[in-house]
Amino acid sequence: MHELSIARNIVETVRQHLPAGEARDVKSVTLKLGEFNRIVPESLEFCFEMASQGTAVQGAKLMIKNVPIRCYCKKCGSGFEAGRYITICTNCGDAGVELISGNEMDVVEVELSEA
Ligand SMILES: [Zn+2]
Repeated sequence: MHELSIARNIVETVRQHLPAGEARDVKSVTLKLGEFNRIVPESLEFCFEMASQGTAVQGAKLMIKNVPIRCYCKKCGSGFEAGRYITICTNCGDAGVELISGNEMDVVEVELSEA
């Protein structure tokens, strides 16, 4: 399952950033998730729960921040928000569009419980 391997990566990333030698619980993990990844947030939350079982990240809540797909047209220079799939420029109809955002999959915040 696609989401499960992503969830495992997230758990691994968080674990690597935890302060060593401190037994503090992870309260939440904030993930920036671009819509271009075509991931169902609920599914990823579920997989995250599974992947974090038995690790220091267990019990943490995954907070997903959706990042809409934004494109830039190389022909006319207009920027626009695309749907779930990049199609063509909404201004001139050209297909030479570039992805500006929407590709993100970054852990941006890890909240720890009080020591
Ligand atoms: Zn255009």
